[in-house]
Amino acid sequence: MPTSREYARQRNRMVDEQLVKRGINDRRVLDAMRVVPRHQFVLEEFKLHAYEDRPLPIGEGQTISQPYIVAFMTERLRLKPHQTVLEIGTGSGYQTAILCHLTHYVFSVERVGRLADQAGERISDFGYNNLDIHVGDGSQGLPDQASFDRIMVTAAVPRLPNVLCTQLEKHGGQMILPIGDEHLQELKLITRRGERFTSRTLLRCRFVPLIGRYGFDSDINSQPTTL
Ligand code: SAH
Repeated sequence: MPTSREYARQRNRMVDEQLVKRGINDRRVLDAMRVVPRHQFVLEEFKLHAYEDRPLPIGEGQTISQPYIVAFMTERLRLKPHQTVLEIGTGSGYQTAILCHLTHYVFSVERVGRLADQAGERISDFGYNNLDIHVGDGSQGLPDQASFDRIMVTAAVPRLPNVLCTQLEKHGGQMILPIGDEHLQELKLITRRGERFTSRTLLRCRFVPLIGRYGFDSDINSQPTTL
């Protein structure tokens, strides 16, 4: 097994070659990606591949996104240190840890209890305690904790859930989420100004489906995807 020094070297190479070269330039995001040990968030048998340019299985038929997508989504949210973020789809907790590094407080919702427990342990082992992980249907958001400065959805939804829009902070709240069918989606950035919402399409992507009331039905095929 590689030493933590060797993993750190791989992580720096991941940042330089997969992120900086493709245009990610937010210093804080790059720093977070250099610090958070991605290999500790993947299954044991995939540790050696943790810093490769691809998504990886994390168990329960789910995947951890490709590093570039994590960095891209995080950069686009332009997170400030005082902000509160809602993440939907905790998964391995890797993206959650990146958000914890960059913001004041993170609420994260995961449908699968086992993934939520593991993610919580990993993140607290790593020393972050500015988060609250909930088990449940994140497609409905967390109305009791709203509003949120930022919302990040890391699983695909068939259409924009109004219930999430209303949980965005009124003056400039932003949400990033993949909208489309179970095979292909468009990553959208939604901005709230009062009761007006604007939407920008950023890129095409492929995420596992969000299963829930405002997501897909649970009988959908949610096998690991390739992004
Ligand atoms: N961001 C994660 C990857 C998420 S994969 C990471 O860095 O590892 C998408 C996750 O969304 C899966 O863990 C899946 O179980 C979860 N999910 C699916 N439907 C959900 C729902 N309705 N509410 C919360 N989580 C959901």
